[in-house]
Amino acid sequence: MTAEKTERPLLQFAAPRRAKPARHLADLTMPERRAAVAELGEKPFRADQLSRHYFSHLATDVAAMTDLPAAAREKLSVLLPALLTSVREMTTDAGTTRKTLWRLFDGALVESVLMRYPDRVTMCVSSQAGCGMNCPFCATGQAGLTRNMSTAEIVEQVVSGARALAANEVPGGPGRVNNVVFMGMGEPLANYKAVIGAVRRLVDPAPDGLGISARGITVSTVGLVPAINKLADEGLPVTLALSLHAPDDKLRDSLVPINTRWKVHEVLDAAWAYAAKTKRRVSIEYALIKDINDQEWRADLLGKLVKNKLVHVNLIPLNPTPGSKWTASRPEDERAFVRRLEFHGVPVTVRDTRGREIDGACGQLAAAE
Ligand code: SAH
Repeated sequence: MTAEKTERPLLQFAAPRRAKPARHLADLTMPERRAAVAELGEKPFRADQLSRHYFSHLATDVAAMTDLPAAAREKLSVLLPALLTSVREMTTDAGTTRKTLWRLFDGALVESVLMRYPDRVTMCVSSQAGCGMNCPFCATGQAGLTRNMSTAEIVEQVVSGARALAANEVPGGPGRVNNVVFMGMGEPLANYKAVIGAVRRLVDPAPDGLGISARGITVSTVGLVPAINKLADEGLPVTLALSLHAPDDKLRDSLVPINTRWKVHEVLDAAWAYAAKTKRRVSIEYALIKDINDQEWRADLLGKLVKNKLVHVNLIPLNPTPGSKWTASRPEDERAFVRRLEFHGVPVTVRDTRGREIDGACGQLAAAE
């Protein structure tokens, strides 16, 4: 056997075949919920009642749903299976940043992070257990892909955060989730169908869904071009974040291996088409890695590529992952990089490194127990 045969593939699109998590209310559209309830021998309007309990009151305990007849409660409980079990919770920033490690029904581990700011709450959710995109600077990327998450497994992460906020468990008083970013574990566009289902559940008004504004939702991708094009046609004005990390193909081929399939110019063209169709500013994510991608000439090249577009560049100081030889840029190089982009008139910010102390910052989610 050659060495290559035992190595993980460079890119892993298809998730390994595994048993599926139980069907949950949040996997279904309202018509599908009514059909499911009818199949259980209950009146279809019970689906609306059950949905109100789950999406408006964030409740899952059927025993407390006293507007349902006792016999119906029993039957309908199969639509609210427990999908996530909290294994560990870690907090920092005086309790306003909170990372949860979840165990899924089959033992797979994923993480989500709740971040409360003075004016909003953002939840960072996982869309796959592991990831097949193999970016060498990302902790999740090093673990490979375990499996795709279901729509309800994705939604449950947000519902759990919403529940903690409503129950006043997060310092700052009772609150709501305003933003959801698909920047946890996984490549959301490699699990397209489940992710779109989750986005619909998040934005649909209650009792169909959680009623979060689509403008508050960000889908982050390494750049699966056909899926970006498809997303543009969904009629969902979510923000697209593109993990670019290098403006030239030579470097991007190694930092973001999907670049061997779709080149910088192709993925940027897809991003501009997305912006044109949705009227949403595209966010270009660029992790600044010392002496790797932080040279001024690269800032200049990036500036030229994105200037005069509906765009925002988000620079992320690299969060070093265990065992990696890479680290964040020197402050003076970061400043020079920002200045170069500003010179081209490109809106640019440097992302905070919230959650870094609890390995909850970008690219650190590894879900080890
Ligand atoms: N697969 C998706 C979403 C997950 S990661 C994507 O790649 O876009 C969310 C963001 O964190 C991406 O921009 C990713 O490139 C970035 N990231 C990954 N590892 C990082 C690290 N070690 N330091 C800083 N950012 C990182």
